[in-house]
Amino acid sequence: MSDVGPDPREVELSRRLGAASAKAFAALGIRTVDELLRHYPRRYAEPGRLTQLEGLRIGEHVTVMARIETTTVRPTRTGGNIVTSVITDGRRQLDLTFFTKGGGRGKSMARWYEERFRPGRSGLFQGTVQRYRNRLQLAHPEAKFFGEDLQDGIDVLVETSRPFPLYPATAKLSTWKIGKAIHTLLSSTSDDELLEPIPEDVRERHGLLGVREALSAIHEPYTMDEVKAATHRFRFEEAFVLQAALARRRAIAQDWVAVARPARTGGLLEAFDASLPFALTAGQHVVGEEVREDLARPRPMQRLLQGEVGSGKTVVALRAMAQVVDAGAQAVLLAPTEVLAAQHLRSIEALLGPLAHAGQLDAPEHATRVVLLTGSQGQAARREALSAIADGSAGIVVGTHALLSEGVDFADLGLVVVDEQHRFGVEQRDALRSRAERVPHLLVMTATPIPRTVAMTVFGDLAISTLAELPAGRADVVTHVVPADNEAWVARTWQRVAEEVRGGGRAYVVCARIEGDTADDDGGKRAGADADGADGVDSDGPDLGELAFEVPRPPLRAVLDVAEELRAKPELRGVEVEILHGRMGPAEKDRAMARFASGEAPVLVSTTVVEVGVDVPQATAMVVLDADRFGISQLHQLRGRIGRGDRPGVCLLVSHAPAESTAAERLEALAATRDGFELANTDLELRREGDVLGAAQSGARSSLRLLRVTRDVEILVNAREEADRVVGAGAALAEFPALRLAIEQISPDREEYLERT
Ligand code: ADP
Ligand code: MG
Repeated sequence: MSDVGPDPREVELSRRLGAASAKAFAALGIRTVDELLRHYPRRYAEPGRLTQLEGLRIGEHVTVMARIETTTVRPTRTGGNIVTSVITDGRRQLDLTFFTKGGGRGKSMARWYEERFRPGRSGLFQGTVQRYRNRLQLAHPEAKFFGEDLQDGIDVLVETSRPFPLYPATAKLSTWKIGKAIHTLLSSTSDDELLEPIPEDVRERHGLLGVREALSAIHEPYTMDEVKAATHRFRFEEAFVLQAALARRRAIAQDWVAVARPARTGGLLEAFDASLPFALTAGQHVVGEEVREDLARPRPMQRLLQGEVGSGKTVVALRAMAQVVDAGAQAVLLAPTEVLAAQHLRSIEALLGPLAHAGQLDAPEHATRVVLLTGSQGQAARREALSAIADGSAGIVVGTHALLSEGVDFADLGLVVVDEQHRFGVEQRDALRSRAERVPHLLVMTATPIPRTVAMTVFGDLAISTLAELPAGRADVVTHVVPADNEAWVARTWQRVAEEVRGGGRAYVVCARIEGDTADDDGGKRAGADADGADGVDSDGPDLGELAFEVPRPPLRAVLDVAEELRAKPELRGVEVEILHGRMGPAEKDRAMARFASGEAPVLVSTTVVEVGVDVPQATAMVVLDADRFGISQLHQLRGRIGRGDRPGVCLLVSHAPAESTAAERLEALAATRDGFELANTDLELRREGDVLGAAQSGARSSLRLLRVTRDVEILVNAREEADRVVGAGAALAEFPALRLAIEQISPDREEYLERT
């Protein structure tokens, strides 16, 4: 790598700055030259204005022109020194203060300040206005003196008209110190030490500043236009590096070999299609065609299928599995939890009917065998499943994600379908590839709609299909927010549940935790983790703690308490109430779900274990308690549990969120629409970006500092195009060492795809 200098990611700050500064930066997680250079200002103090000493506001960042009147040094009680200069514009005064340590070094620092800030000198002083004992002061201000730092009026003009970068500061590191340290780095770092991941021709095409120019402009700008140009360049860089990483993945996927599993006539797929009690939606047709073609190629399908809850993804997946079975191979469907795996097994068996009965007397000609494989299965059942998987008699296998890591032996695995992709990240996809000699086809399903730019950013290595519409005849679901402190409304909520149940419906009641009475117990989340690591845990989880500083709120309602309470309600007399949570054993969970589904116990009080996939068409009511503690996508998923049949549903979100809070906004957004795409966008706007990306790709989280995938759509599109051109199929990443380093940096554990360049 001769054409890049010492890798700036490796150059420790302590080699360029003092040990104390390096240590202070380390506390911020900034250790290398590169990390500090890419620690961008958060904003800029308004340039072009000298502040008058008259009318200073506390907290304001100011530049004042003044003369030093007096300077005094006093010892502090802790043995250090405090240097105080009083400055004046002739009418008003302001204090400048500097603190030094004790001892000889502290003493000489104090003397240095005393000398530099001697009375009679004048210049520009910059800092943030604070109040101390009724006097206004600037602590550790930046100073530029006339005749020394400033030669003439032009210097003053330049100095005062420059935007002043403000960095996120800490007690140990003022925005000054940060700015100074960066200045030191910029002047001591040679050009070939600065990573320039964007090739020259790309920069030219898009009018982007070079890396050094851009770093100077963003840290030490003369105008806000410069800041804008530099910011644009770094946004492009972030998008470009990310897209280049994804382009590499795609290019390498081109080389993977899979077995083509073309559709054939007269097999399971045709028999299945003929047996379906409904017509496919237009979307299911289109996506079905895409999948059919993917599977017929000798390269592994890499497809993400996104579709609203209830849009019929399972049917699409099942048709793909049938095609693979027809080609003589096996398909596996992986679900994030055991409850969901069991649920999938049931719905696949229901959809296939006798076509799932291979080996049994009633089996039609093209039947296959469907087996379940989960961790909690009994030994005998597991042995039997494993042998059917190994000898190939099981055409379709349903299991939990864990199945991938268990080294299960397939006779001929042709297709992996993954349900609920937000719990199935890049790492798992990679694991899948490395397991088989021939890479199986992959279909990932998600009910969490992903805006296009996010999809491009996080799932850029997957082709994307979308089921936009729901099958015809779906009933309406109305959503209301119920203020928890409005007793009449809360009472009405339970009446409503009773009415639904008496009318033959079923009601879910979702709580944030299982039991207990402490306000900060996050049972809903933890309980799931205790049980099997997945039930009830959502990657975007309840937003705990958001309100912690605002209002004291009553403790979160718990499954066990609420179930007790409902059993005691007169209007629910004679109605069985079941419970479901992650701490129950698998058999217990199954039993509870079955009693609920059959109507034996038409009210189910649960944690978020029911969040995804659970399919009880008779369910018409969903009550979410402490709904303000849940995220948008989670509530949308929960609501997707009702209105699955032809009966209209009602979703009641009981909330403690104060009006105007973000939580209240989320709930209002949910009440306003059932459109998952719209909600996903709202969600993005209300959340911090890192949370959105972080859920799926940790690398993306840390590498996006300035880019916003919701806002910078055009940048992303351009960057993707360029990335494809630069490192797409056939291109050698080795020709772009700086880009290679940058890609490595955002995907440190996944160098496999960098090697083959
Ligand atoms: P998803 O997994 O996308 O949430 P499912 O595949 O579970 O949705 O489908 C929801 C329900 O709709 C199931 O009961 C399924 O049998 C039914 N369904 C699927 N496709 C159709 C269709 N084209 N017409 C009518 N009902 C359908
Ligand atoms: Mg589903």
